[in-house]
Amino acid sequence: MKTINCETIRNELTESSDEIRRLREDIHSHPELGNNEFRTADLIESYLNSLDITTKRVLGTAVIGTLRGKTGGRTVALRADMDALPLTEITGADFASVYAGKMHACGHDVHTAALLGAARILSAHRDELEGNVVFLFEPDEEGRGGAARMIKEGCLEGADAVFGAHVTPDLPSGKIGVMYGKFYAASDTFRIVVNGRASHGAVREKGIDALAAAVEMVTALLALPGQITDDKCVLTVGKMNSGTAENIMPGFAELEGIIRTLGSETRAAMEEAFHRTVREIAEKTGTTVVIEYNHSHPGIVNNDEMTALAEKAAADLFGDEGVCRIDGPTMTTEDFGCFLNEAPGTFYHIGAGCEEPLHSSTFLPDDDVAIKLGGMHAAVVLRYLNKIKPLIEEISGETAVIDL
Ligand SMILES: [Zn+2]
Ligand SMILES: [Zn+2]
Repeated sequence: MKTINCETIRNELTESSDEIRRLREDIHSHPELGNNEFRTADLIESYLNSLDITTKRVLGTAVIGTLRGKTGGRTVALRADMDALPLTEITGADFASVYAGKMHACGHDVHTAALLGAARILSAHRDELEGNVVFLFEPDEEGRGGAARMIKEGCLEGADAVFGAHVTPDLPSGKIGVMYGKFYAASDTFRIVVNGRASHGAVREKGIDALAAAVEMVTALLALPGQITDDKCVLTVGKMNSGTAENIMPGFAELEGIIRTLGSETRAAMEEAFHRTVREIAEKTGTTVVIEYNHSHPGIVNNDEMTALAEKAAADLFGDEGVCRIDGPTMTTEDFGCFLNEAPGTFYHIGAGCEEPLHSSTFLPDDDVAIKLGGMHAAVVLRYLNKIKPLIEEISGETAVIDL
């Protein structure tokens, strides 16, 4: 019996590097916006099928690939997002976007090509896999998010763990960054309609000043994060509408904003404090309020055991210098947290080798980042499926240490 190990992955990566690079360049030059990733999904399906991986298309452009190992066992899922952004590319790359106004400026081309690379490596060794691998290609991450909708379609049924990744300008090229625990913020949005009673600006006692009440709400709401948590936490009122003329005391005001929190406890505490604060001020000022509070992405809280597994897989594959622990959480959002609500797992970063910010017209990760990320995904799968068992295994009467 052969044993697939990190050496195998390194060799496979060398052999696959041209192909993964070609896939990445093809996807990069044909960016598609959320829920319109038809060409990308076709490319993914035909590539996976060529590897003898079965595929299922859901939601129009989402692709779920399933690779069954010979021995059965656990099932591990890997996820890549594949949508692009409405930007015009000015990187000057040979393989720059051929579509004006659309660009892979968030590295999803790299994520998709890397996952195809991992599929290639793992499918070549399917007989040595002690379990199954599910490849999730998610549409519309930048928009409404495809994760929750894919889960509703059953993409994680039977999955015991789930892993995903994102490129980052904040790490050296190809370096893996892991984060234990809280990593990405949960995102909620709100809208408050404040109703008072308009009156002549010189006869304030005849009315109820909705604008003044709204201003008081803004001040109180902005102070909430510091009162609720020691973790990072953000509340921003991004929009306020009120008033029609200088001599009319407004009877109506409207506020809109966002709340970003780390972890479900802080998220719930902020929501409770938000409602309490707005209602208290409404009562005090004699206004009435209508509150809309919308839960968006749930945030990412990585599982410690799975994060340790990813850290070790990266160190085995790239050496200790190829992996680091990320300094602290980010207040940006990612809908990978939806998957983590269904199965334990972890989300890691990989250095893009490009210091331009994500979502800029000049963001262009290095050529070999998709190749390295493909290797990382494969190493994580192997460590999860083949190494969670005891380290020593009897092989044909001999005792061998499985090197993963
Ligand atoms: Zn993005
Ligand atoms: Zn992204």
